[in-house]
Amino acid sequence: MKPKTIRIKYCTNCLFPSTKPDLVFNKDGVCNACTNYFNRPKIKWKDREKEFQLLVERIKNHSRWDCIIPVSGGKDSTYQALKVKEYGLKPLLVNSRTCDLSKIGRENLDNLRDLGFDMIEVLPNPKLRSKLNLIGLREVGDISWPEHIGMFTIPFTIAVQFNISTIFYGENAQHEYGGPEHFVNNNFQDRRWLEEIGGMLGLRLDDVLSLEDIDSKDIEIYRFPEHQLLAEKKIKAYYLGYFFRWNGLTNYIVSQANGLKTLGKPVEGSLVDYENLDNHQNGIHEYFKILKHGYGRITDQASILIRRNLISRNQGLDFVRKNEVKFPWSYLDKPLSEILAPLNLSIEEFVKICDSFTNKKIFKINEEGKLIKDEFGNLTKLNYDN
Ligand SMILES: [Zn+2]
Repeated sequence: MKPKTIRIKYCTNCLFPSTKPDLVFNKDGVCNACTNYFNRPKIKWKDREKEFQLLVERIKNHSRWDCIIPVSGGKDSTYQALKVKEYGLKPLLVNSRTCDLSKIGRENLDNLRDLGFDMIEVLPNPKLRSKLNLIGLREVGDISWPEHIGMFTIPFTIAVQFNISTIFYGENAQHEYGGPEHFVNNNFQDRRWLEEIGGMLGLRLDDVLSLEDIDSKDIEIYRFPEHQLLAEKKIKAYYLGYFFRWNGLTNYIVSQANGLKTLGKPVEGSLVDYENLDNHQNGIHEYFKILKHGYGRITDQASILIRRNLISRNQGLDFVRKNEVKFPWSYLDKPLSEILAPLNLSIEEFVKICDSFTNKKIFKINEEGKLIKDEFGNLTKLNYDN
């Protein structure tokens, strides 16, 4: 039977859809990501900076390193490392390896180290990682499930090991992209954030033990440290975006002036050449967001530009219509078949998983309820605007 279609409602200011998880609209149809942005001028940034300076005084010189910065080598983490250095802190940079590190991602990590920082790179077992990629893709439609857990938990584990009390993450994504009220105005990240927002999608670490022949010792590296241990050592993770006005474009300009390499052409599924350069699997991660919720990275990027009055809503809508819903045949120029090879997954099997996660209420289907695709495997979204 043909499933009923739904008409997506869009924010009247930006392009965020009602299908985006945890997005809330006000009576004028404006989303909470936009209202958070409009409220930013009310934030007393000078006071926030003072708050940061007090924190700096408190944490300085208590251990070998004053704080941890989780890094990918991208524009935001390069900016974060430079920012805390500016305030006299000596950070330890911690990189948790992405699932399929690209050449440019490698170069940007090396650049960050060469700027004069100490860095620890943690490389979890790649064979197990591929197994977890496949489990994430099949069970919750997210190939990046293990990567997102590792990026969050590994800096905490290193903090425990080296007795470093403070971790600085970058922006509070719930502030820029909308999210549950509890998380929007937080200045810190914790375990609750990881479980509800951080991409676990209801699949717990111990769940994989029953799904595959995996030893519980092998997944220890992904485990969040015991609450008691964190409390004893008073370890806390803050958002730098709480203390300082966060602007991706500024971060990019500052980072590029400090050696960040960019692709030189827009990344697949993106409007820009300077974001998400460190993992070939990222195109698949973003594509599943489109399949499940009907929007992707281009909607995110266009909406950020619209909020800042850098493009009109119509211009943004045009970018989205033309470029967003595209099957991920390659990412950072690596063909899909090569990206899937470590997972032992063929393109045909991959397409079946894609179809099983596609929300058939928001894409065109035929009389039998089957998804309609063009010769390149691209779907057609039913409505792009109100
Ligand atoms: Zn909006």
